[in-house]
Amino acid sequence: MPELPEVETTLRGISEKVINKKIESFKARTQKLRWPLDRNLSRFLKNKIIISAWRRGKYIIFNLSEGHLLIHLGMSGKLRVFDGQVTPKKHEHWDLSFTDGWTLRYTDIRKFGALIKIKERPEEHKLLKNLGPEPLGNEFNSEYLFKCTRKKTRPIKNLIMDANIVTGVGNIYANEALFLAGIRPRKQSKRLTKLNCEELAVAIRQTLQEAIKAGGTTLKDYTNANEAPGYFKKKLRVYDRGNSPCLTCGTQLKIIRQANRQTVYCPSCQK
Ligand SMILES: [Zn+2]
Repeated sequence: MPELPEVETTLRGISEKVINKKIESFKARTQKLRWPLDRNLSRFLKNKIIISAWRRGKYIIFNLSEGHLLIHLGMSGKLRVFDGQVTPKKHEHWDLSFTDGWTLRYTDIRKFGALIKIKERPEEHKLLKNLGPEPLGNEFNSEYLFKCTRKKTRPIKNLIMDANIVTGVGNIYANEALFLAGIRPRKQSKRLTKLNCEELAVAIRQTLQEAIKAGGTTLKDYTNANEAPGYFKKKLRVYDRGNSPCLTCGTQLKIIRQANRQTVYCPSCQK
C-alpha cells in the first residue's frame, strides 16, 4: 500500500513531465475507482494546463489553469509517464495525454484509488479540509504533539495514525517511529513526557525522510513506458519483523494488534 513516502516519490518522479504541459485528452477505461468517475472529466480536463503539482497527506493535487485535479493511489495505485503510444494493459485505468506526446497513466489492481475534479480551493475540499499538519512541515513539532497528547487516554500509536492529528503516518511508520523513540505503542498518550514528544516528533520525520530517500533511487522508473514502478524497498527496523530479534538488543520482537492493525515492538527497548 502506498504510504506518504511512495506518494512523495511518485510526485517527484512525474512532476517534471507533467508541469507546464497542456492536456490534449483524458481517457478512462473504467467508470468506477473508489468512487464513480465524473462523467464530464474529459471535457473538464481538455486544453487545461497543469500549473503545479503538490502533495497533501497521501493526495496528489494538480493545480490547473482552471480548477484542480485530486489523485489518490488507494491501496495499489501507481502512476508513470511515457512518451509516445503504448497499448494499455489490464488494470491500467486512465490516461492523461499531453499535447507534446507524453502520457500520464494510472494503474490500480484493486481499483481503490480516486480521481476527482475540484472547482473550489483544494484546501476546502471535504477530503482535505480536516487533515492535520504535514509530518514533514513546520507546524508538526514536539510542542504540537505534546499538546495533542494531553488528557488523551488512547494509545500513542493510534493517536499518531489519526490523520486529523498528523496526516500521512501509516502503520509502517508509526511502528518504526515508536521504536526509534523508545516508546511502547500501547502507552497512553497523556503519559508521554515532553522529552518523549520531542523524540517521537523527530523519529516520525526521520523514518519518513529515510524512506523518501530510499525511494529517490527509483525516480527514473517513473518514466518507464512498459511498466509502472513497484513500491520501493524500505529499510525497516520492526515492521514485519515480529518474533525476530531486535536489531538493537537482540530481544525477540513482540506482535500485538491495535485498532485492527499489526503492531511490532521491542519489549526491552520501548518503555
Ligand atoms: Zn530492543
